[in-house]
Amino acid sequence: MYKFSDIKGNDRIVKNLKSAVFYNKISHAYIIDAPKGSGKKLIANSFAKAIQCENLKGNLENDVESCGYCTSCRTFDAGYHTDIIYVNASKSKVIGVDDIREQIGKNIELKPYKYQYKIFIVNNADTMTIQAQNALLKTIEEPPEYGVFILLSENYNNFLPTILSRCVLLKLKPLNYDIVIKYIKSNFSVLDEEVYLYASYAQGNIGKAIEMLSSEKFIEMRNMVIEFINSFHEKDFIEIFSDVLVFEEYKENIMTVIDILYLCYRDMIVLKCFDNNNTFLIQKDKKSMFMNIIESFSLKQLFFGTKAILNAKKQLESNSNFQMTMENLFLRLKEKR
Ligand SMILES: [Zn+2]
Repeated sequence: MYKFSDIKGNDRIVKNLKSAVFYNKISHAYIIDAPKGSGKKLIANSFAKAIQCENLKGNLENDVESCGYCTSCRTFDAGYHTDIIYVNASKSKVIGVDDIREQIGKNIELKPYKYQYKIFIVNNADTMTIQAQNALLKTIEEPPEYGVFILLSENYNNFLPTILSRCVLLKLKPLNYDIVIKYIKSNFSVLDEEVYLYASYAQGNIGKAIEMLSSEKFIEMRNMVIEFINSFHEKDFIEIFSDVLVFEEYKENIMTVIDILYLCYRDMIVLKCFDNNNTFLIQKDKKSMFMNIIESFSLKQLFFGTKAILNAKKQLESNSNFQMTMENLFLRLKEKR
């Protein structure tokens, strides 16, 4: 199931992990950091599986790969490997000190059941409370020789400096646009013009692309945003404020909605700057509509709009009040410049 060869992009990181496996120089603690959907689990699982494989393939450090058929590989693929342990939050959304004590503290004392290492993969490790991090710190400060910790995180800044200083930090990079396009083309049947659209929305994140391509909601959200922009310039402030309620229905996916809004503004700027030439236009299917809309906007207003959209995104990421942020955004978009 999990293989190094399935990992897209991030070649240098993958190369380093392969080399660690090949020379059996495994560090005690790693942090794999990237936004949701970037392939953190695939990398962690491929690495853990290769570390434990009894019959590694490949004679060169760069072709090393788990064999897929030894007892270790088979039990891992079947989901019951005794020496690769997943650690998760058990009671709430965050990993508490009890989770670390129960799932790691007690377990790490016992030697591996069968293999050279005992590997703990901690999901959402950046949600660990301070107490949980301190409990983990005790273990990773003086780990037994067989202990390996792979912490998966979306924001490594949440870790205590003492944890960070003891871990190898692997920050995944967004994938190259062409890799995402190739992935979409070979895994989904979509029209050519739509492939570029999805790849742009995905912003180098294959998980995001998969989520959008498998969800009807994405199309619905895009239509909602397009409809919003299309009637925006004709609306008065009362109507615009009531649009906040429409956006609120998509509150759970608000970051995607904001990304769509941003991309629409980006496309309108392209049309305005390049004199209706659509070479750089991403949403080619909406060209004539955008052409109509930009009549009512100055270039300066569009630029200012993109800035306001990014600003709102930042505020929403730091959990600011939804209604106020959106109202403020719509006011900024409406401001004549
Ligand atoms: Zn194997």
